[in-house]
Amino acid sequence: MINLRLLWTWDHCTQWTAARAGVHDYGASNEFSGTAEDFVREYSLLLRWCGRHGIDGVVVWGLLRDGHGGVEAARRLCEVADQAGVKLLAGVGLNAYGGVYYEGASEWSLNNHLRKHPELHAVRANGQRHICHVPGNSPQPFHHACPSRPENLAYCLDSLRWLMETVSVHGVQVESGDTHVCECRLCRERRQHPVSALSWDDMALFYGPAAEAVGSVRPDATVVLETYSHPEPVTDGTVPGFGGGSPPSVAQCLAQFPRRAYVQWVADHFCAPRRSAPWTARAPAGFAGNIMRAHLATWWMGRGDEVAVDWLAQLAQQSLAHGFNGLSIFGEKSPFRTGCELNYLALADYGSAANPGADLESFLTRVAAPLLGGPERAAEFLRLARLIGAPEELERAAAQARRHAAQLDGRPAGRWTWLAWYLSRWLYDAQG
Ligand SMILES: [Zn+2]
Repeated sequence: MINLRLLWTWDHCTQWTAARAGVHDYGASNEFSGTAEDFVREYSLLLRWCGRHGIDGVVVWGLLRDGHGGVEAARRLCEVADQAGVKLLAGVGLNAYGGVYYEGASEWSLNNHLRKHPELHAVRANGQRHICHVPGNSPQPFHHACPSRPENLAYCLDSLRWLMETVSVHGVQVESGDTHVCECRLCRERRQHPVSALSWDDMALFYGPAAEAVGSVRPDATVVLETYSHPEPVTDGTVPGFGGGSPPSVAQCLAQFPRRAYVQWVADHFCAPRRSAPWTARAPAGFAGNIMRAHLATWWMGRGDEVAVDWLAQLAQQSLAHGFNGLSIFGEKSPFRTGCELNYLALADYGSAANPGADLESFLTRVAAPLLGGPERAAEFLRLARLIGAPEELERAAAQARRHAAQLDGRPAGRWTWLAWYLSRWLYDAQG
């Protein structure tokens, strides 16, 4: 069974009011273009919807920023999450991505820590300080800490304890960094295994103490450890980066991960729609759980708001068959966008008591049909939505969606109107 369902978000992309200006479609480390009220409103809508529909938790990157109310706004969201019965998990970069306090005049902002202590910076192979700045999707520079410096580990643990003591989040999703590693002499001598843009040795060094620090304040906190990887063995001698499999050295590092935590994996290349590699590996035993996360229905790897309930069914089936008990997908956009709505509802349904086999037909008949005007229309909705990959059929598909909308009323009509608009965008672009 799936017992942990998460929606994963960056604050600057989260839009749960259907009509709202100034929100990014995708990306990381962007500015937040709103007020504290905007932040609290958008996430309150998200958390309450999750509570009503069977989603267990929401991961928030950028939870703490001066620009949207800092600690006070985060506390308000924790109250909303408590009332909704949903876990609010802070996304925390331990050596990158801003640390506990993403942006502002806080000592718990990793950027501030490294500005104050430039000698604790991670460095690149050329000796330059490692400051990541990705034009396009991640424009705000973020500073990387050297994981070998004990001062940085101590700072990291202090910041996690401060977070748990100050804001009553239900846990954290932590990451060690996937945007290149520190290449100083200490790090090179410490690491026992080769690196890519990420390092399993760095994860093994930080994740145990981090989980302990969180648990020392809140013993029942949910701790999710990002691996950026799939557990499928890689035996050709390569060391994959984000989304790749696991070289032999992973077992030794994983053995150092704290057992009380969930380990989070990346499914993107091992399931539909890409499925560029076979998936035979089982989830490692002994942890609180193993979560499969996929970039479905996001502009990161594909198309924003895309209807992905069939691919998600396959992901859930593969996850269940291989011993995983958690699933995570992006949750930044409002269910007003019917693609998102169906994906979120499918996430809630697959692997539940109502649908233990994560069966697509069962979902379409029980869950989607009442929303779309009946079981035949539910199957038709998925078929037409998939035609964004078939330019020659788009015009007919959009017309068909408009006909269904005209035959229905209320939200079911609205959902078909969304599909007609969604398909029309691709048609419009294809026609130049
Ligand atoms: Zn270093």
